[in-house]
Amino acid sequence: MNNNRVFLSLSQQSGFEQGYVQKALDTNWITSGGPNVCEFEEKLESYLGDESLAIALNSGTSAIHLALVLLGVKTGDEVICQSMTFSASANPILYQGAIPVFVDSESETWNICPENLEIAIKDRIKKGKKPKAIIAVHIYGNPYKIDEIHSIADKYQIPIIEDSAEALGSSYKGKKCGTFGDFGVFSFNGNKIITASSGGVLITKSKSLKEKAVFYANQSKDKAVHYQHSEIGYNYRMSNICAGIGLGQMSILEKNIAARREMNFFYDEIYDEIFNVKLYKNTNEDYFSNYWLSAILIEPNVENNLQRESLRDAFENENIESRPLWKPLHLQPVFEKYPYYGNKVAEDLFRRGLCLPSGSNLTENDKNRIKEVIKTFFEKI
Ligand SMILES: *Cc1c(COP(=O)(O)O)cnc(C)c1O
Repeated sequence: MNNNRVFLSLSQQSGFEQGYVQKALDTNWITSGGPNVCEFEEKLESYLGDESLAIALNSGTSAIHLALVLLGVKTGDEVICQSMTFSASANPILYQGAIPVFVDSESETWNICPENLEIAIKDRIKKGKKPKAIIAVHIYGNPYKIDEIHSIADKYQIPIIEDSAEALGSSYKGKKCGTFGDFGVFSFNGNKIITASSGGVLITKSKSLKEKAVFYANQSKDKAVHYQHSEIGYNYRMSNICAGIGLGQMSILEKNIAARREMNFFYDEIYDEIFNVKLYKNTNEDYFSNYWLSAILIEPNVENNLQRESLRDAFENENIESRPLWKPLHLQPVFEKYPYYGNKVAEDLFRRGLCLPSGSNLTENDKNRIKEVIKTFFEKI
């Protein structure tokens, strides 16, 4: 049996990428911006619907940063951010010299907790500063509690940046993730559900904000024959070559979503019989996850040496990659001095949670190897 490494999440080609890239080369559009970039934006806009306008950028991180710039976040301002997420959700807050305020997760969707969010907002206002924005994240593609979170944001009139980097194709009550926030963010990094080799997209509903975002992303060039700048600029536009890859990938988006969801059903069957393990699944029909990554929680049992790390080791011994859930940002050395509101839900998820191989390209052989590790591991305990 082949023993190649099984990865958590790998990109997969559609075969159409080369055509778009070749066209860019043939027409000498080898720069940031260009026809592929416009077409990629249009494809995404019609995929998302709801009058979404897309701005293609060089990364998801850039998209979050530009959202903060467009919201006027400046030095000393406070921005609320979900603690359980990838560091890229919060780093742009620091780029602006602003202060991140971290909020815990709830245990249903693993995303930002409505109760703690409101506690945080009230307390920050009491301390003299109303947060300028809320960064809420759909981790692993699983939609956060959209109704609850957005009604709190509305109540206090705080804009939401919806970090949908992992949630392209996920939806809530039939509406696509990335279209709920004042800004939506997608990532097309190599490990996401589809890729542009690297890239990101910012979503807005406002034509003037789209124009402003393109202006900032293209070095803030004022109208003049020479280069004239009145505002700080950024070199954040997506390259026409990357957009070509993104366009090719758009053709397999639905297929990839189906395959990732299939992986979740595969794990569901296996873990159904193992009572110390709980697979993450959507709470009810309102939630539709692309299941970018399938993840489990393990109930530790000291007597049997059952813990997250022992299962991770068992996978590793068979050359299969698995990874603990996101380490909460308020525990990360770079962020630990900033305020945090919560009840240690994210900490507990981090302690017990494991992400499993979830790529759309896993073969029957890969699946059998994964299944074998799990069966053998849980038979022993
Ligand atoms: C990947 C990711 C990002 C950053 O996107 P890049 O394109 O890699 O810059 C931001 N937030 C989350 C939750 C992500 O998973």
